[in-house]
Amino acid sequence: MRSSAAVADGLGGFAVSVIDLDDPGPQEVLVELKAAGVCHTDLDVMAGAASPVVLGHEGAGVVRAIGADVHHVEVGQPVLLTWAIACGSCFACVRGNQVLCESLGLDRGYAHAGATRSLGGHGLPRSFHLGTHSAATVVRREAVVPLPKSVPFASAALLGCAVMTGYGSVVNVAKVHPGASVTVIGCGGVGLNVIQAARISGATRIVAVDTNPGRFALANRLGATDNVLVGPDDPFLRRTATEVAALFAGRGTDYAFECTARPMVGAAPLAFVRNGGTAVQVSGIEQEIPFDMALFEWDKVYINPLYGKCRPSVDFPALFALYENGQLLLDELITHTYELDDLSKAFEDMRSGRSAKGVVML
Ligand SMILES: [Zn+2]
Ligand SMILES: [Zn+2]
Repeated sequence: MRSSAAVADGLGGFAVSVIDLDDPGPQEVLVELKAAGVCHTDLDVMAGAASPVVLGHEGAGVVRAIGADVHHVEVGQPVLLTWAIACGSCFACVRGNQVLCESLGLDRGYAHAGATRSLGGHGLPRSFHLGTHSAATVVRREAVVPLPKSVPFASAALLGCAVMTGYGSVVNVAKVHPGASVTVIGCGGVGLNVIQAARISGATRIVAVDTNPGRFALANRLGATDNVLVGPDDPFLRRTATEVAALFAGRGTDYAFECTARPMVGAAPLAFVRNGGTAVQVSGIEQEIPFDMALFEWDKVYINPLYGKCRPSVDFPALFALYENGQLLLDELITHTYELDDLSKAFEDMRSGRSAKGVVML
């Protein structure tokens, strides 16, 4: 079938064009997308693509066709897409690290073998093997999670990346405890979800840190108890860290989460936590930066989790239930919606910080 899709051109830009989709193979599912999230990672994919790739890695829609070996969903069923797919039997999977699956995981296997869809007769890979900035996509069965009718498509589209990353980093990785104090550096799509997951975990002080005071209203709605604005000339956030520590008798917070994707602040969460505290780098910074080892003093832990250690079959049902009982706010996170043809505007609003979370309606 044919589908309109946003395709990165391999030169740093993208265009919305018509692509051909093959029928799903035995272990694949054809999904008609209804909503797709817009994420900073899309900009990285676009900038880093050396050849064409279908953009988008957050999405929800309806199953339109399934392969012979697909049994957990049926045609017509609403689904959420997840890029954390696992085989269940490799070295990492049997040790409980499904997100690091060595067979189907992000850096291996299917992620790169997924170029079965075509553009003018050429193989066309999909971003994170999903390619959700498209009217339809064909994905592996493991990427498809049944979605309850109670969760609207636009809200569901957020679950597959920003929400899972933020929530999982707090609940699965840091294991924030009731009564804890937490600093959240950066109140964008992921940071806001760290804030609400910390609230859901019972943290009693949640300090939202940002350079943009316009972000604090939503941060507070999601659970932040304190706001600290980053002042001028504080690129490594050391002065901001001192300011936050002052709120806790000079000690710092139990946990700090970095959610900015800015290399300069990669070490910063260590400066915000108390001795023995836990610093979590949520945003996936992977550049080389200067690192003052004294920041680890004393007994501090620094963790760099992937996708909040997502276990799709455990975490998504938990997130659906938290949404249904009103603890997890999703609709409130969507500040802007767009049509696929307006994707460049969506990217622009995200770059400038105008949107907290934009969603393309398909
Ligand atoms: Zn994302
Ligand atoms: Zn595996």
